[in-house]
Amino acid sequence: MTTTEISTGTKTRTPAVLGGNPAFEKTVSIIRPNLPPWSSVSKRLEDIYSSRMITNHKTVEELETKMARFVGSRHVVALSSCSSGLILTLKALGITGEVIVPSFTFSATGHAIYWAGARPVFADCSERDWNISIESIRKAVSKDTEAILAVHIFGNPAPVHALEEIAEQLGIPLIFDAAHAFGASVGNRRIGGFGTAEIFSLSPTKLLTGGEGGLLVTDSDELAAKVRMLRNYGDPGTYDCFAPGLNARMAEFNAALVLEGLPLVDPEITSRQNLAGIYYGELSRLPGIRFQEISDGSQHTYKDFTIVVDENGFGIDRDALHRCLLAENIQTKKYFYPPLHMQSAYMNLPHRSVDLTVTEWLTHNVLTLPLYSALGKKGVAGIASAIASIHAHTREIGLTRRQLQG
Ligand SMILES: *Cc1c(COP(=O)(O)O)cnc(C)c1O
Repeated sequence: MTTTEISTGTKTRTPAVLGGNPAFEKTVSIIRPNLPPWSSVSKRLEDIYSSRMITNHKTVEELETKMARFVGSRHVVALSSCSSGLILTLKALGITGEVIVPSFTFSATGHAIYWAGARPVFADCSERDWNISIESIRKAVSKDTEAILAVHIFGNPAPVHALEEIAEQLGIPLIFDAAHAFGASVGNRRIGGFGTAEIFSLSPTKLLTGGEGGLLVTDSDELAAKVRMLRNYGDPGTYDCFAPGLNARMAEFNAALVLEGLPLVDPEITSRQNLAGIYYGELSRLPGIRFQEISDGSQHTYKDFTIVVDENGFGIDRDALHRCLLAENIQTKKYFYPPLHMQSAYMNLPHRSVDLTVTEWLTHNVLTLPLYSALGKKGVAGIASAIASIHAHTREIGLTRRQLQG
């Protein structure tokens, strides 16, 4: 067995799991941080180093000013991480009751609620865009609901207007974990500008990175001022702390990396959108593959490009495709599996859930594929054709698996 016909009539290679050569000689990693040129970064680092002012100084101030302009909001507060930003925002808002949050998200979203001393209520997500579902929020509301914490999943903007509307009806703050969404927009407004506050992450898996870091964006003078103090132990400058804060500052070196990386963000997103077009074109021809829908007027960052693999249509399930792609030297991730309500950490902690049918369907079928500009058209086309050739051989792959399992 060397070649097989697929529906398009092209000859296809033998998948590596069946003994063919891997699609790639070297491992294609799931993520590759998009870093600015060392020459520009080193210049800034040298300036900081020679000034001896390595934290709490002008690079962070410059970053906050430039970011506020980039997003088009009144305040940006630079922080040590998105996690610390979420915790301090909840603290500053005095939230101690229930926070409605999607279960289908990265663990840190939920963890922040516990660190702030509040309780998560897990809501389901929409089958269409995989973001928190408004209908599910309605079911999750109780007399103890104090906030909504939504996430722009994979960089696909959440339904910001509908969320603002329901938060307003309930008279509670709406906070966005915008870790995936730096550079995204809805209409002509950048993500960062919605709800009470949005918090970005600058950790290395994100589109813009400072090594580590976070950014709180808000139009509220009071919230910005409070988080500014809370990131600095709660000290208003008199050593008479108004609340027990954290050290959640961003250091100058990290801010330098973010500032130099900022001009790369929009071109990287454009490049990812073009490359995503190749995935859509190639993969939509295969049965059993589904995509996250993007609302009209929304711009996705493609922080992650995640597909749903329906075993009935595709021929093998998500886990099998993951293993087959690994044999092709293509790294993929099951983002997000397990979702928060299924994680060990949450078993014995106070929380509630409403019906999570869509979350449970997604979590068992999602697979994140590599997508970043450095892959180029050839890289993305190579991954797509590896998936097509695996699909063309699912019958044999299924048989092999059954034999292996005895
Ligand atoms: C990465 C990530 C975080 C955590 O960000 P840190 O800056 O590492 O604290 C939070 N939420 C989501 C959705 C993330 O992907």
